[in-house]
Amino acid sequence: MGAASDALHRLVRDVPDYPEPGIVFKDITPLLSDPAGFAAVVDGLAAAGRDGEGRVVVDKVVGMEARGFIVGAPVALALGVGFVPVRKAGKLPGPTHAVSYALEYGEATLEVHCDAVAPGERVLLVDDVLATGGTVAATRELIAACGGETVGVAVLMELSFLPGRETAGDVPVTALAVV
Ligand code: AMP
Repeated sequence: MGAASDALHRLVRDVPDYPEPGIVFKDITPLLSDPAGFAAVVDGLAAAGRDGEGRVVVDKVVGMEARGFIVGAPVALALGVGFVPVRKAGKLPGPTHAVSYALEYGEATLEVHCDAVAPGERVLLVDDVLATGGTVAATRELIAACGGETVGVAVLMELSFLPGRETAGDVPVTALAVV
């Protein structure tokens, strides 16, 4: 995890008071434009979908809009499993499950296609930042509504001053950096 955490400390930019006063926004765009850094964090996240012998132990990677798409899709390819987008309300064309939840800033509704995760499938959730944990908790509800099981959560950064891990519930959380 050394290369990944080095890349995160070097290439993620703190933007104070964005999008609201008091929030320090973690801007991953410099990381995304650095191919070695991006590859290192994808490798680090993908490790959360393998067991100690390197075997893939998940059936799907689920990424939450929007930065969870950018980091989750290459993780799914690295593991050789399908990718499922969890989207904000009204964006998915088919029948969906929906859950509303509170954000660190504001409120949102997330949706997933009902057939995106099959009953019994094991799912790894991937996102950029774990803050309050509300997004992860809501996404776990969506996966459960499909009949799937969230077996892990993998994020680039965990904000240590917020109770994201507790809110995420009873699931292993891998954070490549705790800030
Ligand atoms: P939460 O539901 O509070 O854990 O928030 C996680 C979601 O909000 C993730 O999808 C992040 O992309 C975004 N987010 C929350 N706080 C921040 C932050 N300080 N910097 C960047 N993104 C954030």
